[in-house]
Amino acid sequence: MNQTFDIIVIGAGSAGCAVTARLARDTSATVCVLEAGPSDATLAVKIPFGLIHLMGHPTRDWRRETLPMTGVNGRRVKVPRGRMLGGSGSINSMVWFRGRRADYTAWQQPGWDADTVWSAFSDVEEAIRPAPLPDPHPLSTAFGASIGGALTPETVSSGVFTTNMRHGQRFSAADGFLRPACKTGRVEVVTNAQVATLRVANGRAHAVTLIDGREINARAGIVVSAGAIESPAILLRSGIGPATELARLGIAITADVQEVGANLHDHPAVPLHHAGDAGGYGLTLSDLPGWALAPARYVISRKGRLSSNMVEAGAFLSSDGGDEPDLQVHFIPAKLGWQGKMVVPGKGYTADVAVCRPKSRGRLSLTSADPREAPAIDLGLFKDESDLLTLERGVTRLRDLLDKPCLSAWRAPEAFPGRDTQGASLRDHIRNRAGTSYHPVGSVGMGRAVDHRLAVHGVRNLWVADASVMPSITSANTNAPAMMIGWHGAGFISEDIRRTA
Ligand SMILES: Cc1cc2nc3c(=O)[nH]c(=O)nc-3n(C[C@H](O)[C@H](O)[C@H](O)COP(=O)(O)OP(=O)(O)OC[C@H]3O[C@@H](n4cnc5c(N)ncnc54)[C@H](O)[C@@H]3O)c2cc1C
Repeated sequence: MNQTFDIIVIGAGSAGCAVTARLARDTSATVCVLEAGPSDATLAVKIPFGLIHLMGHPTRDWRRETLPMTGVNGRRVKVPRGRMLGGSGSINSMVWFRGRRADYTAWQQPGWDADTVWSAFSDVEEAIRPAPLPDPHPLSTAFGASIGGALTPETVSSGVFTTNMRHGQRFSAADGFLRPACKTGRVEVVTNAQVATLRVANGRAHAVTLIDGREINARAGIVVSAGAIESPAILLRSGIGPATELARLGIAITADVQEVGANLHDHPAVPLHHAGDAGGYGLTLSDLPGWALAPARYVISRKGRLSSNMVEAGAFLSSDGGDEPDLQVHFIPAKLGWQGKMVVPGKGYTADVAVCRPKSRGRLSLTSADPREAPAIDLGLFKDESDLLTLERGVTRLRDLLDKPCLSAWRAPEAFPGRDTQGASLRDHIRNRAGTSYHPVGSVGMGRAVDHRLAVHGVRNLWVADASVMPSITSANTNAPAMMIGWHGAGFISEDIRRTA
């Protein structure tokens, strides 16, 4: 393997793949993409329904979890993160939303206003071509009709999701950006290459060290796209972060940047489980023929239950009954377990509701300088009690929605927590059961740890481009925004590289 390139991109996830494609298009640089995990060439990634096998996977999921958090009664919460080409976009549910235009206005970052960002999304969508889910379960279609309108976080609405699938298969940033970029002949992708630290000399990032001791050099610079959990961890291990915290761990200070690791947040969410004789995809005797025929149907038509991303439909609701949504619903036409196991026998459906714009903030820090040790993740869930109250109202709104007549043919009773869980007991239930939508962001925030061109404060030739740079979370799912950040951010990075070449 060549040990010196012009640019190193760390992480081949949703953003890193888009970064690579833009650098390959806009510069003549050689690019080395270092991905900690393996290739994504496996059926569980390509077949949409395979995602049930990927969360918690021993090698394809980083399987992170939070510290015990007071807002959730001292519980730890799971933080799944994809670990392979495509990153979290290779284990996610493929739901596609840009977010609201106002989300980007709220960022208040030059070059990231809603019009500019919308144009970058158009470029991303040309590469990915998101489209309505090809073959939703009729129950999801019925749920989607509960409010109707075009499903968008801009208005109170419901519908079947648009997803990033092509011909019934997952089509991730690795497919839409990385593989085409490799055809330039200037991009080398190295899998199973986990970066331990960055090497910085005279204030300039010039190389990385892998956990197996290999060192790879970058003449023009390094882009960190390892996601909202691992990107700040790499910076901190490299001495870029709050000086006192680093000194405590015996890490030499490269740049005292207080905001690295701060501002970590996610969409808090809680599910309602429905179980009964009716429902969507079931694990029952009468469903066995459907499951037996599913592989043949999928091979022939790319349709049927194996083409399902599970999270098939959704809604945007307003907690105060107004026109502006502040809640997102994900609807799964299947009974999921609420006592540990995800897939359980029986029929039913599951819907979860999430707070679109949470106010709570946590922090990512290190417990050790050892790159094999997991970072300490505090998502800060419900630190701001208004998030809890919004979610409580969200459960009530979701129950109203699930009572609509369009679902009557499929109706199954709320089995957990049950309709009598209201008021204080509902708030306690939320603290005991809430998780997140798996959308961590903000831990290397723009205007905080990086500038609006994504350059890391205090170190030259070093940028961060992934979901970690969001100053505040977008109002819906974060995969499309992560790709947009990679693509648009790499426009700035390409300019910087060309200027200093
Ligand atoms: C289970 C799940 C379901 C989700 N569902 C949806 C959904 O339906 N729709 C949606 O919009 N969003 C969804 N998301 C969120 C979305 O996928 C993420 O927001 C998005 O992928 C983040 O992109 P990223 O580039 O910031 O990070 P990632 O895509 O996570 O990429 C980071 C990459 O860096 C690699 N990496 C990390 N550390 C190192 C290191 N030290 N050295 C080398 N490589 C490293 C990782 O292995 C990974 O490949 C979901 C996420 C999960 C986990």
